[in-house]
Amino acid sequence: SSYLDAIGAANPALNAYVAVTGEQALDKAKASDAKLAVGEAGTLEGIPLGVKDLFATKGVHTQAASHILDGFKPEYESSVTANLWRDGALMLGKLNMDEFAMGSSNETSYYGPVVSPFRAEGSNANLVPGGSSGGSAAAVSAWLCAGATATDTGGSIRQPAAFTGTVGMKPTYGRCSRWGTVAFASSLDQAGPITRTVEDAAMLMTSMSGFDPKDSTSVDIAVPDFAAAIERGVKGLTIGVPREYRMDGMPQEIETLWQQGIEWLKAEGATFQDISLPHTKYALPAYYIVAPAEASSNLARYDGVKYGLRVSGKDITDMYELTRAAGFGREVKRRIMIGTYVLSAGYYDAYYLQAQKVRTLIKRDFEEAFNSGVDTILTPATPSAAFGIGDEAMAADPVKMYLNDVFTVTVNMAGLPGIAVPAGKDGKGLPLGLQLIGKPFDEETLFAAGRVIE
Ligand code: GLN
Repeated sequence: SSYLDAIGAANPALNAYVAVTGEQALDKAKASDAKLAVGEAGTLEGIPLGVKDLFATKGVHTQAASHILDGFKPEYESSVTANLWRDGALMLGKLNMDEFAMGSSNETSYYGPVVSPFRAEGSNANLVPGGSSGGSAAAVSAWLCAGATATDTGGSIRQPAAFTGTVGMKPTYGRCSRWGTVAFASSLDQAGPITRTVEDAAMLMTSMSGFDPKDSTSVDIAVPDFAAAIERGVKGLTIGVPREYRMDGMPQEIETLWQQGIEWLKAEGATFQDISLPHTKYALPAYYIVAPAEASSNLARYDGVKYGLRVSGKDITDMYELTRAAGFGREVKRRIMIGTYVLSAGYYDAYYLQAQKVRTLIKRDFEEAFNSGVDTILTPATPSAAFGIGDEAMAADPVKMYLNDVFTVTVNMAGLPGIAVPAGKDGKGLPLGLQLIGKPFDEETLFAAGRVIE
């Protein structure tokens, strides 16, 4: 009840929830009370969570914050949310996001932007919570849920976590089932939690993970009890610092934060090693070819026939066109056009194939670093703190917005796990985060090292 009251009070200003399922939540909470009373509680019994609008939730609003899915209520539940409900967690409602998870500011949502609960000192201007999981990050940091599900294709869990002083974990590709999660770029998409603490993230991660025969890219590997790893510490670990992440023009406060993180981990017994990830500078351009290419294919299913919105036309082609024109927002249309272009005959070799080759080189960079004895890699999570809603420079030039993902996309391109942990504040009191990148399926080391930083 207290979470629902908090949502009622704060959501009109924050716009973090796009649907609240209060009655179901209270019914489920009562059922959880009954289970707790007889000692039959699940590991997450009665824990109230928010769910990103990208996850299919049976009978409940699921629109990926897009107009084209107007009125869509799936007949099925995503595997990730089903896992959470199996362990006793309950849903407070669906959370706002960038349309189809395309964005870094939550401004591309059909439901309008999410407002960050944070303000720069001495200013009243509204800031973005980051994106695409902006609703998840804002809701967690404003105490409108105990934790939230989110997804990360190029940084959408870690960047909003960094902007809102929360913890965000993107697990190894294949750790969580993608079944029932609206697809953006299938070879990059992964679900994960946004929470207030590393321990909470570990608990949710344990529940969300696991092999699922319904997702052919889900990996059949044992899921450890991640929460048991958080007190392991970092003694004896070797942590890599990639020199290519020291970008030109990076604000001094990000540099200082990074150095601070190194000191904290050193004090707990970690040793540091300079490493090189030479293809880093190609990651962002390659990502913005691969992700739109996959998106253009995935989004072809929204044609006005099977789901949501339909705008009638004089014939079926006309109906497709009118539906898509009305149903997709600007950024989604831009991605579909880019994706279709880079996949088209004559350009496929020059762009898509080339980007896939770059992707392999990025993956190899990480493999070499880990083979050289590094256990995990420490970087900033974002190149800056949160910016203002309606930032003119970013609105005028989408590439400026894409630069937000410079430290996070490499991780998705290589399929690795990454965690963003709150590490400090900038000069105006805004949260900043550090990122730890791990070996495939070694999320445990990230939880252990993240715990030292938080
Ligand atoms: N900001 C990136 C994009 O717009 C990443 C989004 C995501 O991780 N879903 O594509």
